[in-house]
Amino acid sequence: MVAHVLVFPFPAQGHLNSMLKLAELLYLSGFHITFLTTEYDHHRLCLHSPAHSRLSRLPGFWFRSISDGLPDQQPRSASRLIELYNSLTHNSSSLFRDFLNSNLSQSQDAGWSRITCLVVDGVMPFAMDAATDLGIPTITFRTSSPCSIWTYFCLPKLVEAGEYPFPEGADLDERVYAVSGMESFLRRRDLPSCFREARDVSDPRLDVVYMVTVSTTRAKGFILNTFEAMDSTVLSHIRTVCPTTYVIGPLHCMLQNMRSRMLSNTQSGETSSNSANLWQEDRSCLPWLDKQPKGSVLYVSFGSFTVITNEDLMEFWHGLVNSGQRFLWVIRPDLVNGVEDGEGQPTSVPPELEAGTSERGYLVAWAPQEEVLAHPSIGCFLTHSGWNSSLESAVSGVPMICWPFFADQHTTSRFVSEVWKIGLDMKDKHGREIVETIVRDAMEGESAQELRRSAAAMAEKARESIAEGGSSYLDFQTLVRYIKSTDQ
Ligand code: UDP
Repeated sequence: MVAHVLVFPFPAQGHLNSMLKLAELLYLSGFHITFLTTEYDHHRLCLHSPAHSRLSRLPGFWFRSISDGLPDQQPRSASRLIELYNSLTHNSSSLFRDFLNSNLSQSQDAGWSRITCLVVDGVMPFAMDAATDLGIPTITFRTSSPCSIWTYFCLPKLVEAGEYPFPEGADLDERVYAVSGMESFLRRRDLPSCFREARDVSDPRLDVVYMVTVSTTRAKGFILNTFEAMDSTVLSHIRTVCPTTYVIGPLHCMLQNMRSRMLSNTQSGETSSNSANLWQEDRSCLPWLDKQPKGSVLYVSFGSFTVITNEDLMEFWHGLVNSGQRFLWVIRPDLVNGVEDGEGQPTSVPPELEAGTSERGYLVAWAPQEEVLAHPSIGCFLTHSGWNSSLESAVSGVPMICWPFFADQHTTSRFVSEVWKIGLDMKDKHGREIVETIVRDAMEGESAQELRRSAAAMAEKARESIAEGGSSYLDFQTLVRYIKSTDQ
């Protein structure tokens, strides 16, 4: 019998994107796949994701869904994330157990084996517990940056060293020393956002973060979407607590490679999208990019969760126009604070910025980001430092300007500027002059050239890691062997 893998991501864009890629990689490696989402996201995937419509036609690939326990009309935006998380943990836990039982008979009817292995998003320990009770081996996948995950592991050390909680009115530029391997560059402001937001160690947000982190050590294995050359020091620390860590990224490139290897003889030229979009992508920006000079366009996107004030939106807009650079900007309909229905109204161009925007800018509500970043016209990426976006940029050799919003993004942006030296960090800074200056620094002159050289070197290392015999390629083979063994 073929092993049957259940892949269960947390219902958010970045989590869906990377875990759907992993699911397809496992499918191409010969496994039966059930990909479980929430009903809310499943509906949006059916509407907007080309990868969903392609994969759902495959005989060995099932999409299934369960309720997230929230009313349909409730927004699943960043400001309501904790409600979504709590609802999943409390309401979907029993639904998930029912699902595992019902899937058993569905699998038998289809001639598949029962679920032999669960690959679950590490932020949902309830799913791991349910699978463990049924004797199903579980591997956890954390979709955030490894550097941030290591800081979560170090929370007890930070407390013990008296470095956390921060004293009242603490200077966020002061360094913290208790995160092994980051002593020389990590400041208070670079710790994940929950460290700043929580008032004390008993804050429930920190409890959740730490409980989730520790639960990864109970799994049979731990998957990270990165590559050895990018995160070697951090990975060596993580392996002290999670010895069976599979480092198999960048997953979107692994998938592109595997698909082109497997499809080259049968369906050459196939270019269908791999993304698990929850929004409709606007591909009209690609012909616009085709018309721009090489390396001349700044791509601006703050991912799927970030919400900004209208004031910040205007400051960015003025800064971009005043920088004199070309720009392609993703303005999600719900990017600005207060618009919460996920589908909001398109933002209109302020009259004083119309000329500069139409001369040099292009606005979309959602972009085919991987293709955009791989386009030769892109010279830099102004990003919120989401982990998927950061990897996609690094792999394409595109330097970044980082304006982190929450969670792991504060740590990732520090690594971009101080460790990998492939971008500039404008964390916690606001204002049109700052935007204008940093955009110029990243796009023009010797500093920009230096960033491009480092980014190109990092992209080369990424390509080596996914090529046959590379570190991610080999770790993925080890993962496949383990999953095969679950069907014994
Ligand atoms: N993305 C996209 N089009 C856009 C903006 C984002 O396809 O216009 C994708 C992007 O390629 C990435 C994901 O959405 O894979 C965002 O994940 P990330 O971890 O960067 O940030 P999050 O949205 O979770 O904050």
